Amino acid sequence: MKADILVIGAGIVGSTVARELSRYDLRIVVVEKNCDVAFGQPTKANTGIIHAGYDDKPGTVKAKLCSRGNALWHKIAREIGAPLEEIGSFVVALKEEDMSILKELKRRGEKNGVPNLEIIEDIEELFKMEPNLNREAIAALYAPTAAITSPYELAIAMAENAAENGVKILLDTKVKGIVVKNEEIKAVQTSKGRIDVSYVVNAAGLYADEISAMAGINYFSINPVKGEYWVFDKELNGLVQHVLFPVPTPISKGIVVTPTVDGNILIGPNANPTRDKNDSATTASGIDEVFAGALNLIPKLAEKKKRVIANFCGLRPEADTNDFIIEAYDEARGFINAAGIKSPGLTAAPAIAETVTDLLRKSGLELREKDGFNPFRKPIDRSVRKFDMEKANNLIARDRRYGHVICRCEHVTEGEVVEAIRRGATTLDGIKFRTRAGMGRCQGGFCGPMIVRILARELKIPPTKVTKKGSGSNLLFGENKSLLKETSK
Ligand SMILES: Cc1cc2nc3c(=O)[nH]c(=O)nc-3n(C[C@H](O)[C@H](O)[C@H](O)COP(=O)(O)OP(=O)(O)OC[C@H]3O[C@@H](n4cnc5c(N)ncnc54)[C@H](O)[C@@H]3O)c2cc1C
Repeated sequence: MKADILVIGAGIVGSTVARELSRYDLRIVVVEKNCDVAFGQPTKANTGIIHAGYDDKPGTVKAKLCSRGNALWHKIAREIGAPLEEIGSFVVALKEEDMSILKELKRRGEKNGVPNLEIIEDIEELFKMEPNLNREAIAALYAPTAAITSPYELAIAMAENAAENGVKILLDTKVKGIVVKNEEIKAVQTSKGRIDVSYVVNAAGLYADEISAMAGINYFSINPVKGEYWVFDKELNGLVQHVLFPVPTPISKGIVVTPTVDGNILIGPNANPTRDKNDSATTASGIDEVFAGALNLIPKLAEKKKRVIANFCGLRPEADTNDFIIEAYDEARGFINAAGIKSPGLTAAPAIAETVTDLLRKSGLELREKDGFNPFRKPIDRSVRKFDMEKANNLIARDRRYGHVICRCEHVTEGEVVEAIRRGATTLDGIKFRTRAGMGRCQGGFCGPMIVRILARELKIPPTKVTKKGSGSNLLFGENKSLLKETSK
């Protein structure tokens, strides 16, 4: 196989880079070792905040790209039909010493180009905007441009739109080596064969250091930092109106309380380094730490503890350089790193894609805009879930499967599950991330078996071959009572 550019990794960064490059007349291939896009740890498990951009020190790459990314997402999310709600954020001061931090964050934000930042010291006004906020709060930095999204939906939508614009996405394809000759990129060796290519973008998340070393660039390492979460039932919808941060610590933005775009309340993450890039287990102590942190902002959560429906953990891909590494290299011409993309990587992704495109241009790649680039993704009809009954009835009249609710918690119909499979889902998690079936109160207890049956029917495979998230995660291992039959023989 031959291509002009090969992007390694179909997380939010790889998918966004691919979609940006699909404006140009180029043969673009994305290779992803998982069986689906957005299955990498940080992209599927993060807070889903499109940060305003006041956190990072002016002059860092992160600072430059965060506020730019925020502005770009507002436009792109509309184009690709992904959720983005500009609800604004507060950094909450609980004691006098916190005030100097709020002022510093405001100064940083203004230097980073963040619009309309304001320190609210009128406590009545603050509690009117956030009625359940800790009564000990004395002020808050208000950033009205902060927004919330669904990170996996965003990544899936970007990958879909890239594919609609001609990008080839090769799943279950692991990069094993990079061929560099005379200091130029020549090819990439994958688990499915060699791809001849002159330009490579490394967007491999937690593994970006290992990929970079394959091209001979090995001056940094990526160290995972765990972040754990609680997700609360939609019954708590309305408990908070904005994204609420405590004042930040030197290692993280702190434990957040936020609504999600789907109507849940999310709390987390903590920040605990781990050596294992596969260690996404939650821990009892970590979960307790997160709950205690959230109580500092919303004490009322104490009486809602039992309304938790899930806990999960994400892994930050933290570079030892402590900044994003977005660079081209003379010793491996054509190789571009987009590495060390920890928070605010989700926010910055479209600005990272612009920077990568610029580096490719400077490295000699000819970028000719092609006719017919379509920024709009083919829309998905969600009228049943939104109880838009006129549209829903029309949809059901056209296809009765839209009248068959599969996931009762999230009101997902068989029609939507089949549509998700047509759009590329092959696993239970693939359906979950595209439709939310299995993300509600019962966490898939009711819809799981039905989705297995639909996946088997649509993919024409036996139910025993259906997996949760690809190879090695089969859900069934035999027919009903097969073990009983075996022993009675
Ligand atoms: C706890 C937590 C909270 C966060 N909260 C926020 C937030 O609220 N807002 C925000 O802006 N950012 C946030 N972030 C940061 C954000 O999630 C990340 O910056 C972003 O997801 C990184 O995306 P990525 O595409 O670089 O990495 P990934 O999602 O890891 O994607 C890389 C892909 O490369 C693939 N890959 C790796 N090696 C190979 C190989 N050899 N061959 C082929 N494919 C390969 C992987 O399978 C993966 O799919 C948070 C991160 C964490 C962990």
